[in-house]
Amino acid sequence: MSSDFSNMTLGQRRGLMLVLSSPSGAGKTTLSRQLLESDSSIDMSVSVTTRPPRKGEEEGKDYFFVSSSMFEEMVKTGAFLEHASVFGNRYGTPKEPVMLALAKGNDVLFDIDWQGTQQLRQQAGDDLVSIFVLPPSHDELERRLRARAQDEEKVVAARMARANNEISHWAEYDYVVINDDLAAALAKIKTILAAERMKRGRQTGIPAFVGKLTS
Ligand code: ADP
Ligand code: 5GP
Repeated sequence: MSSDFSNMTLGQRRGLMLVLSSPSGAGKTTLSRQLLESDSSIDMSVSVTTRPPRKGEEEGKDYFFVSSSMFEEMVKTGAFLEHASVFGNRYGTPKEPVMLALAKGNDVLFDIDWQGTQQLRQQAGDDLVSIFVLPPSHDELERRLRARAQDEEKVVAARMARANNEISHWAEYDYVVINDDLAAALAKIKTILAAERMKRGRQTGIPAFVGKLTS
């Protein structure tokens, strides 16, 4: 599939776009942080949101927190690769940092919902690798949402009410990982990434290497 991203990558490996989605509270933020800490060739895509910051969240690290009018302005000027409304707030992926990271040959990690994943797939085609993270049970999902202790009770209830809807999109993803034991789930995600990086089409130095081998 051709895409705007076809000519963006340089060097010996073509960067990929790794999406992690899950019902809220299943653990994708935790998994993303640990993956980023363990691998310096991954850049996190920091989203823009109209949601207020949670305690401990940092501007520019967790999100760029903006007003509704600023968000709308960014939509109008085409600053987003994708954007969607989730739980009554708006979220979007800024285009420029993603293009810059891929141009450097880095991979880019996205913590976005199924709506954003569908939009990215249309644009990025085969450059997109998507993973859906499931909680081990309904009760554990609720426990984790409460354990995060950041959201009010009514926010927790709203997120639980949306969980079934979000989970219903699991089959649109390339991979599914159940986040029961955190270390085991992280290891599975690293395995997926390692295999995807080895795909023939992503190893852009191989044709020249084979040329030399066989000359
Ligand atoms: P999400 O980003 O999917 O909304 P978070 O990463 O914020 O979810 O995780 C929600 C809560 O669950 C956090 O308090 C986190 O520490 C906890 N958590 C994440 N993964 C696990 C796990 N495998 N076992 C136990 N608790 C977990
Ligand atoms: P939270 O408010 O818990 O940080 O995120 C709520 C939901 O919004 C999560 O499912 C998260 O993956 C999703 N989300 C965060 N950023 C973006 C984005 O830029 N685009 C889309 N489509 N979803 C996002």
